[in-house]
Amino acid sequence: MASIMLNHVAKHFGAKVAIADIDLEVEDGEFLVLLGPSGCGKSTLLRMLAGLESVTSGEIHLGGRRVDQLPPSARDMAFVFQSYALYPHMTVRRNIAFPLIMRQFKWWFHLPIIGGLAKRRIERSPKVAELVEKTAKVLSLTEMLDRYPRTLSGGQRQRVALGRAMVRKPEVFLMDEPLSNLDAKLRTAMRGEITRLHNRVGGTFVYVTHDQVEAMTMGTRIALMRDGVIQQFGTPREIYTSPANTYVARFIGTPPMNLIEGRVENGTIRLGGTSLPLPAALAAAGRTAGRDTVLLGIRANALALGAPGGAGGLAGTVSLVEHVGAESVVAVKLSQVRTAHDEEGAVPGEIMVTASGYSDLKPGDAVTVGLDLSEAVLFSRSTGVRLV
Ligand code: ATP
Repeated sequence: MASIMLNHVAKHFGAKVAIADIDLEVEDGEFLVLLGPSGCGKSTLLRMLAGLESVTSGEIHLGGRRVDQLPPSARDMAFVFQSYALYPHMTVRRNIAFPLIMRQFKWWFHLPIIGGLAKRRIERSPKVAELVEKTAKVLSLTEMLDRYPRTLSGGQRQRVALGRAMVRKPEVFLMDEPLSNLDAKLRTAMRGEITRLHNRVGGTFVYVTHDQVEAMTMGTRIALMRDGVIQQFGTPREIYTSPANTYVARFIGTPPMNLIEGRVENGTIRLGGTSLPLPAALAAAGRTAGRDTVLLGIRANALALGAPGGAGGLAGTVSLVEHVGAESVVAVKLSQVRTAHDEEGAVPGEIMVTASGYSDLKPGDAVTVGLDLSEAVLFSRSTGVRLV
């Protein structure tokens, strides 16, 4: 197990800045998730940790030891790829044992008969055989040890790739979107499996994904990236409840956090023609904005739908209703206030409200949206940064 420290790490590909200037400290035994949209630099960062990509500047320390100038083999990190990278002509047993066999590598391992016999001997040695059996048991692969990768399902292949990483007992596991080739159901099952693996074997995990659900459910901490810059580094809960800026607020959560334009005045927030008292902490944060426009960040489940004409709420018209089992997600186009939902696919002026059960509302229905401000947050309209 080992802590990881990144000190002003940057990566440039010619004129392209893939990683701007990253400082990050990951504790021993953490499950760090690097999260962000395609092209944000998360794979590049992981590859620099592994030594598969050089750093343009900065330092990487593993367990207090500087490693950025060391080759991958000297870093004690195991990499699990999206494509699994299993050897198709080797059994599951040999695939898992492979790193242990290669530890005792001799040049004549390449020779057809002698090399084959030598590898077999190592594979059958009590120490290696025991470790492979033990690893297979943890990953429920015992029955499959003598099969070939092509006869396994995607999830089973993924487990073999994990097994191959585990036998090395590395200080750090690096995983680049390991579940993205699996169907939705298997992905959910493997998510739990990797979390359990982390709990059982310990070790520091660094896991790259663009899937916020994976990040929220697996990570002890998440580094949310955009354009080579970390937008926020925190626990899933911190990132969900206290997003550092509007980008994080809109990236995390389904549906994303609603951002409604308003103005703070004497401990209240004015949203169009409606004035609502702010909780004390929010009123204090709002004061820092002075007379500037702010954005009220509020989650869909802190909003409630009422009959039209209700007091203390925002008037709007239902534009879409999605039934998702235990609840319905209702899109409401507000009539008097503006939103800051300007990313692709978002409709300006439209907010999302969750209603429990099967909502009978239909597009075109007039409603009043009530707001529970106890868990709301405020952002600066001009910078997008959360006001505290
Ligand atoms: P994805 O989820 O699509 O894999 P990512 O967040 O992992 O994306 P990276 O693969 O790290 O992103 O790429 C970050 C940026 O650096 C991208 O703009 C990419 O085009 C660029 N990049 C990556 N590798 C190279 C390279 N070898 N040469 C030039 N540019 C590169």
